[in-house]
Amino acid sequence: MYGPLNVNPLKSKGGKTGSWRTLLRPHYLHKNCIACRMCLMICPEGCVQGKEKNAFTVDYNFCKGCGLCADICPKQDIEMVPEEAKEEEK
Ligand code: SF4
Ligand code: SF4
Repeated sequence: MYGPLNVNPLKSKGGKTGSWRTLLRPHYLHKNCIACRMCLMICPEGCVQGKEKNAFTVDYNFCKGCGLCADICPKQDIEMVPEEAKEEEK
């Protein structure tokens, strides 16, 4: 089991934790999402948004690339991809 789960944690003011990413970033496939919200709840930065199936997104300004969202997704609908990959290719 993962934990603790954070719901709407405050983002550090002016501290865009997206700069912490070095190798990988999450890429949502938007194919098999069941809108369980597990990725949103586990994200330590509170930077996952979404309500509908296949419509969850990440604010990369705050995503630090920890991979917890991809790890917990029950439908394997999130991949960790190389940071240097262009957004449109992911
Ligand atoms: S990799 Fe996923 S869980 Fe980690 S900070 Fe980014 S969006 Fe949140
Ligand atoms: S954990 Fe996976 S299935 Fe659940 S809302 Fe996130 S992307 Fe969708």
